[in-house]
Amino acid sequence: MAAIDGLPPLREVITTHGLAARKSLGQNFLLDLNLTAKIARQAGDLSQCDVLEIGPGPGGLTRGLLAEGARRVLAVEKDARCLPALEEIARAYPGRLEVIEGDALKIDPLAHLTPPIRIAANLPYNVGTELLVRWLTPPQWPPVWQSLTLMFQREVAERITALPGSKAYGRLAILSQWRADARIVLSLPPEAFTPAPKVSSAVVHLTALAEPRYPADPAMLSRLTATAFQQRRKMLRAALKGMAPGIEDHLRAVDIDPTARAETLELSQFCALARQLSTARAAG
Ligand code: SAM
Repeated sequence: MAAIDGLPPLREVITTHGLAARKSLGQNFLLDLNLTAKIARQAGDLSQCDVLEIGPGPGGLTRGLLAEGARRVLAVEKDARCLPALEEIARAYPGRLEVIEGDALKIDPLAHLTPPIRIAANLPYNVGTELLVRWLTPPQWPPVWQSLTLMFQREVAERITALPGSKAYGRLAILSQWRADARIVLSLPPEAFTPAPKVSSAVVHLTALAEPRYPADPAMLSRLTATAFQQRRKMLRAALKGMAPGIEDHLRAVDIDPTARAETLELSQFCALARQLSTARAAG
């Protein structure tokens, strides 16, 4: 059956261009264009937006984003074998798709885009988490992007959206939820991909907040959460001993029980403690 964009089905694209999946590049492709359009729709109305896509591969999600009306897509792909397939898509959508061959961890393509900007990607696990952390920690807030629609292993998606008290709650949850709304919008079984990975996946949609949910210095909050969750089973008075002299007094000053554990603290409490420690440092 012909696709709505008049381009060949993705299985045919893969055969024509010899795109056998490479494990080293985390290649698990989405070949169902109904599914890629559904993922693209999770990114919201794209008609007024430039979209950055990382890792387009044979172009399933790229086609979804364009068919759903993205004003323009800039796609960064490390695997040069995919470029001819992506050029065919660019020809079907004149002036709307630009492809850069390169490693998304080494180049920053955001400067090439015109706001409003949204980001969408189905990436290998390690690259995805590292890029998420970078996108969430820009030098200035609000960031240049409005939203991120990203596929992760289900377990990582749960760490991003986790609430206090759960095993998944940790640094990634604090970082994601401090300055963004983060929710799981779609769950996918392994069989949705070719080849099928071992684990399930999920799409997380993050919307940047205009301001952080609670005030705090980003560097202090980052250090505090790293230290607190490094020894998540320990009581905070022990886990945070190295953060400041008299840590028990600082914890009490912001109404946190020094015998509590990191995984029980709300985001607002982490921010209050970060402010307390910043003030103490400035005074000392
Ligand atoms: N978006 C396609 C899809 O959904 O079918 C492909 C997804 S596949 C999971 C990940 C893609 O990211 C592959 O095309 C791979 O070559 C590419 N990739 C892996 N590491 C990358 C990196 N550091 N920079 C850019 N692309 C990368």
